[in-house]
Amino acid sequence: MNKSIKDIGFSRQKANFIRHTYIEDMEKYLLAFESQISSRGIDIQWIDTEDELCEAIENLFINKNYNKVCFDLPQVPAGLLNQKNLIKEISIETCADNSEAAEYLITKADFGIADTGSIVLINKESKNLLNKIEHVIFILDLNMILPRMADLDTILNLYSVNHDDTILPADIKIINAPYKRIITDMMQMSFNSQFTSEEVKLTVMLYNNGITDIMEDNRIRESLFCINCGRCQQVCPVYAITKEYSPIELLKRNGDPNNHYKDVFEHTTLCGNCEKVCPVKIPFTDLFIREMESVERRQPGESGDDLLKDFLKRGKLNKESSKIRRYFFLRKYYGKNKQLLNYFSNQQDEFFNIRWREAQKELEKDEE
Ligand code: SF4
Repeated sequence: MNKSIKDIGFSRQKANFIRHTYIEDMEKYLLAFESQISSRGIDIQWIDTEDELCEAIENLFINKNYNKVCFDLPQVPAGLLNQKNLIKEISIETCADNSEAAEYLITKADFGIADTGSIVLINKESKNLLNKIEHVIFILDLNMILPRMADLDTILNLYSVNHDDTILPADIKIINAPYKRIITDMMQMSFNSQFTSEEVKLTVMLYNNGITDIMEDNRIRESLFCINCGRCQQVCPVYAITKEYSPIELLKRNGDPNNHYKDVFEHTTLCGNCEKVCPVKIPFTDLFIREMESVERRQPGESGDDLLKDFLKRGKLNKESSKIRRYFFLRKYYGKNKQLLNYFSNQQDEFFNIRWREAQKELEKDEE
């Protein structure tokens, strides 16, 4: 086997283990993280819902000048976006133009590292560093913590493999404690070379964001391994057509009765592409099937059994490999969605149910 492919396979296994270890023992690691970074003078808050997140951010800025905070706007919770008096958007370009001694971009942090008490911010958006910020807030999803600094290498290597937006080391910032920001005044500098310094406050918001609900749900718990690399979306044939269904988002959100994502179970092909590329080896096919099996229980009136039967029918259809029967099937299940109908009609290979296909292979082996 090609060595690099073998190495990637090993790294994926290792990354899966790293994420599994953390998710299974999350409470222990979170408490350690809290105690370590508190002891270094960094303020830490535990935030459950989006409303609480908005309130916590508002409370930090009562009676203060709003431009002490600047957000990467796509990361701002919807509830805060309306409050134009609180949030001021400062574009990266503007900040770069005003930059004297560059500091940090306030954004949603991707990873925190527990064992050193540091926060590691992987900042995908930042092209430039920022200045003139007095208070930095990190909003850190509970599942985005790595137990050991050494784990970061494994995760980042996989993150960047075959990924267009390769994360460069320059995009990673490691923060151990509040720091001094040097305030320079050009006029003052030119006359008497004096400048002052001011402490930049750091606040970490450990954000639940529905993560504990997913943790308690054994069917989809492994979806928390996700490191947000986006590769499952890139290879998803349904997403390619609809631009609507990202495999991992569908898994995480399907439990919410207020969304339409249960649609995935009528659309997913179980092709297994997402499972093949996921750097942390999330077993998508199994998770989708487990989730389908439970639709009936969680949402009375929705027939999970019927959905599952549909998948079995697709498996049978592959076995028939008759064009006319496939046509009838596609009309029945995808007739209302012309794009998907066309897409599936153009597939040459058996396609619909890899689990069924694997079971067939096993059967054939037994018969030999
Ligand atoms: S689930 Fe998708 S986005 Fe998450 S790590 Fe796997 S491939 Fe990347």
